[in-house]
Amino acid sequence: MKPTGSIFVLSAPSGTGKSTLAKRLVAEMPGLIFSISCTTRAPRPGEVHGREYFFVDDATFDRMIAQGELLEWVKVYANRYGTGKAWLQEQLDQGVDVLLDIETVGAMNVKAALPEAVMIFLLPPSAQELARRLKGRGDTDEGQMVLRMAHARHEMEQYAHYDHLVVNDDLEGAYGRLKAIVEARRSERERMEATAQAILQSFEP
Ligand code: ADP
Ligand code: 5GP
Repeated sequence: MKPTGSIFVLSAPSGTGKSTLAKRLVAEMPGLIFSISCTTRAPRPGEVHGREYFFVDDATFDRMIAQGELLEWVKVYANRYGTGKAWLQEQLDQGVDVLLDIETVGAMNVKAALPEAVMIFLLPPSAQELARRLKGRGDTDEGQMVLRMAHARHEMEQYAHYDHLVVNDDLEGAYGRLKAIVEARRSERERMEATAQAILQSFEP
């Protein structure tokens, strides 16, 4: 029997380095893919339906909620985002591990629905460094900074609900710790049972 895949949920205050680390993790770890959410927001230039998101209209999103097709969903500003159950289950059934890059409210709802999900929270090394990264990224002006930092402070408090905490101080170190969490999960005995049995079989005459 093929082992079923695992769900990893990665959350972080905006600017911490979540996209940087998540992209590298998915690129370098075979058998780990990004979850593809459904959203009502319009595609940005370069985004492709079925790659970054499944872009759906409001009526479709309403129907998905009504029919219980979403594992969780949230409204962020004017747009709605949600994780489709069927798509996710298909991946897990194939033994593929899925990384959910979602905000903290959705993350808590995933944990409630699927307690076996591996919850990872990424922390900036300090408020000062987070502010520096937000400035460095160039998409946050001085006026927005106070608001962004207040929001980050609020998001930081959510760390208490996660299984693993990774401080993104130096990028290589943080990446190594993140990778170790995925590898530790994959090494759990119940996930290694088939491999261990096959090795055991090789001892038979
Ligand atoms: P997020 O997805 O959490 O909003 P990004 O991945 O966009 O964050 O990273 C925010 C900024 O911080 C980017 O300019 C990125 O290059 C930088 N960054 C990420 N990790 C580190 C690190 N460990 N040290 C210094 N800068 C970093
Ligand atoms: P963006 O519009 O920049 O792609 O995403 C905006 C926010 O929505 C990000 O914080 C992202 O993590 C979050 N998000 C994307 N997909 C989902 C989802 O399926 N569920 C939840 N809860 N949040 C999501």
